[in-house]
Amino acid sequence: MDQPFVDILYTQNWDSSTKFSIKVTKPLHSEVTPYQRIDFFESDTYGTFFTLDGLMMVTQKDEFAYHDMIAHVPMATNPDIKRVLIIGGGDGGTSREICRYKHIEKVDLVEIDERVMQLCQQYLPQTAGHIATETRLHPHFEDGLKYVKNTPDGSYDLILVDSTDPIGSGEGLFTTDFYRECFRVLSGDGILINQHESPYYNFHVREMRKAHRKIKEVFPIVKVYQYNIATYPSGHWLFGFASKRYDPILDHQAKRWEEFGLKTMYYNSQIHEGAFALPTFVNEMLAGT
Ligand code: SAM
Repeated sequence: MDQPFVDILYTQNWDSSTKFSIKVTKPLHSEVTPYQRIDFFESDTYGTFFTLDGLMMVTQKDEFAYHDMIAHVPMATNPDIKRVLIIGGGDGGTSREICRYKHIEKVDLVEIDERVMQLCQQYLPQTAGHIATETRLHPHFEDGLKYVKNTPDGSYDLILVDSTDPIGSGEGLFTTDFYRECFRVLSGDGILINQHESPYYNFHVREMRKAHRKIKEVFPIVKVYQYNIATYPSGHWLFGFASKRYDPILDHQAKRWEEFGLKTMYYNSQIHEGAFALPTFVNEMLAGT
């Protein structure tokens, strides 16, 4: 009998004119938590992957693109970052990349749904394997907005918002209130990276433009960079870069980053420079915000 395909939603407001499917060799686990539905699958093409409320989160095959680009772009802009806050990111991919820097002192990871982390530890050791043993990593299971509101000024050099889309529990992480709290808890040379969605589908474009406008109200330096990831809607995805002091191109520390000697599959110093050169249609989308 043919293996069944699993349809991956492009947005929670299902766009019936586009569809992405993966043939699964084995369903691994499904459950509904107080926050979301979690499904883990096995596939030949993408290896183990999981979805939250039907939306793709992480696949074994292409997670490197997302996790390289969220972690190494800010680290190569300010290689002296030592205190990192990750919001979301229960799969562990982002903290895995950050913890590769030996000089990082602490990483607080604030994930609203403890089950995401537990299941990733069970089914996705590629991203979550370090969580049990990495002594600099401190998981907290609560809402990211609540956590930053209770955090003293200047506590972190870098905040990575590794969240779901701005729907449901992720919604509060795309508000001006949240960005103001991030600004407050960042040190004087702090950097914030967050999801900027895809420039192709209406829902993503609307949310990306809203997020960009709100971040510009709060941070003096705001840029957008792009990367490709096969299993996210359209494969063309954006991150927002916001900073109090550093410009990701003018202050790019390519030589210092290369001296760390990290082997990466997606990120390199040329990608860093090129990622901030956006297609005209993306620049136009952002200009109007
Ligand atoms: N790389 C993924 C992507 O872009 O689709 C995101 C991965 S990570 C699994 C996203 C995590 O954010 C989820 O595990 C979810 O539980 C968590 N999350 C959503 N809203 C949150 C909130 N308000 N506070 C903390 N974590 C949150």
